[in-house]
Amino acid sequence: MKITLKSRHEIDLMRAAGRVVYETLQRCRDMVRPGVSTAEIDALALQTYTAAGASGLFKNYPTYKPGTGFPGNTCISVNDEVVHGIPGARLLQDGDVVSVDCGIRLGGWCGDSAITVGVGTLPPRHEELIRITQETLDLAIGMVRPGIRWSDVARQMQRHVEDAGFSCVREFVGHGIGQAMHEEPKIPNFVSAEFERRGDFYLQAGMTLAIEPMVIAGAKDVVVLDDGWTVVTKDGSYAAHIEHTIAVTAASCEVLTKS
Ligand code: MG
Ligand code: MG
Repeated sequence: MKITLKSRHEIDLMRAAGRVVYETLQRCRDMVRPGVSTAEIDALALQTYTAAGASGLFKNYPTYKPGTGFPGNTCISVNDEVVHGIPGARLLQDGDVVSVDCGIRLGGWCGDSAITVGVGTLPPRHEELIRITQETLDLAIGMVRPGIRWSDVARQMQRHVEDAGFSCVREFVGHGIGQAMHEEPKIPNFVSAEFERRGDFYLQAGMTLAIEPMVIAGAKDVVVLDDGWTVVTKDGSYAAHIEHTIAVTAASCEVLTKS
């Protein structure tokens, strides 16, 4: 496992990329309302990061299925869609749970972040789903400092999700990030014997990581639709996905995908 540590200067460059992601997602958040299509939100994202001199990381991202590079500039996942939803003609409706994921490169360095937003009025259980997902990310960020084992963070994340009666997605995890969007190590939001045996690591200053809890209101199982991308819950229950890119510092960490 090759984890590249970033210098102070490199982290500052990643922060500049992270700010563009933050501004893009803020504009997307402001646009979420009934009657808006996910394609319109995607177009606004493209316009926002392009105007800032950044390029998108998701468009044409290759998949295992030949000829099906990702068609969007963002991933927009609605309701039972967990991640990798394709923006399109779908119009948002009152009660929808919408996740927008944005990854860009600026000056050679990447930023990756996602938000989950409710459209209009949500039932209390779906409000709670979004709140618990945000809290799970926040508690992970609060634990990050050199010398902590990732599995100890992941265990607390999983506990917070499951104590609320929700599930952690197993098939998708966070990741290291830097000059490439996906670097080592893998950053799961749950613990497994496999991870503790082969993937676990101690946090070190200079690591830059995308932490991204994916939480389901029902059972943990997911399936990928025939489009080759959209990941949906098997039981049709709603999901939330919230992500930040962070840098481990000498004493704690800095969130790079914020203002
Ligand atoms: Mg992302
Ligand atoms: Mg990510």
